[in-house]
Amino acid sequence: MREHEDFRDDRLKTWCIHCGAAIADIESNRDHVPTKSLLTKALRERGANYDKGAGGVMDYLPQVVVCRRCNSGFSSDENYLLCVLHAVMAGSLYPDPQSHPEAAAILRSNRNVVRALKRRPDGQLLLFENVAPFTLYPDPERVSRVVVKNARGHAYHEIGEPLLEAPDHVAFVPLEQLSPEQRDTFEAAGSDGELAVWPEVGSRMTVQLFDEQAMVGGWLTVEPGRYRYSIDWSDAVIVKTVIWEYLATETRWDH
Ligand SMILES: [Zn+2]
Repeated sequence: MREHEDFRDDRLKTWCIHCGAAIADIESNRDHVPTKSLLTKALRERGANYDKGAGGVMDYLPQVVVCRRCNSGFSSDENYLLCVLHAVMAGSLYPDPQSHPEAAAILRSNRNVVRALKRRPDGQLLLFENVAPFTLYPDPERVSRVVVKNARGHAYHEIGEPLLEAPDHVAFVPLEQLSPEQRDTFEAAGSDGELAVWPEVGSRMTVQLFDEQAMVGGWLTVEPGRYRYSIDWSDAVIVKTVIWEYLATETRWDH
């Protein structure tokens, strides 16, 4: 994505958006939103080069400053979600390294996650592995923490809203499980491009709105096929994301 400077008042950049701690008083660092591991290695490398001052103008990956403790506190759940996605896309907890090298490598090095995913909600382990239809029992709490972390980050990065409260609603579902009507509603980000409320002047979203390349149908694409998000702040703040064109998420903060 193209980097846009954030011209808002510096007072807004004072707190960790996750725990509310004053950034000035604690160790902080930059956290990628979305979670960096959800993007391809090629794009992550381009993003790292951009941060060092090299790389192309479109290689910026969105980042927000958060406290160090929160930043590292998310990594285990982020890793968990990555395992879930790889298992689902490969259709197995033990993917063939030939056909799914990345999935095979990640699941192989996360045996504890694989074991946890095989457990049914009643605690019983699956008797047969790799049976069709392939069923997983991901822990919704862990997935939810990653979804909310990224939603908070997107809202802060684009419209400068530090949403310190817990969201009023978090949902995620495979896109394919939405009915055609639900899918239309979900995809209609914002309100047909006719936003009732303009973002705060100087926020990144004011610039994105005029950048037709950046924003298509109300969606900002970080990497095609990997991650896109939209933010609607006309009433409540609603952040939607689509991860790997598979998982649709929606996080809402009512005012
Ligand atoms: Zn924090």
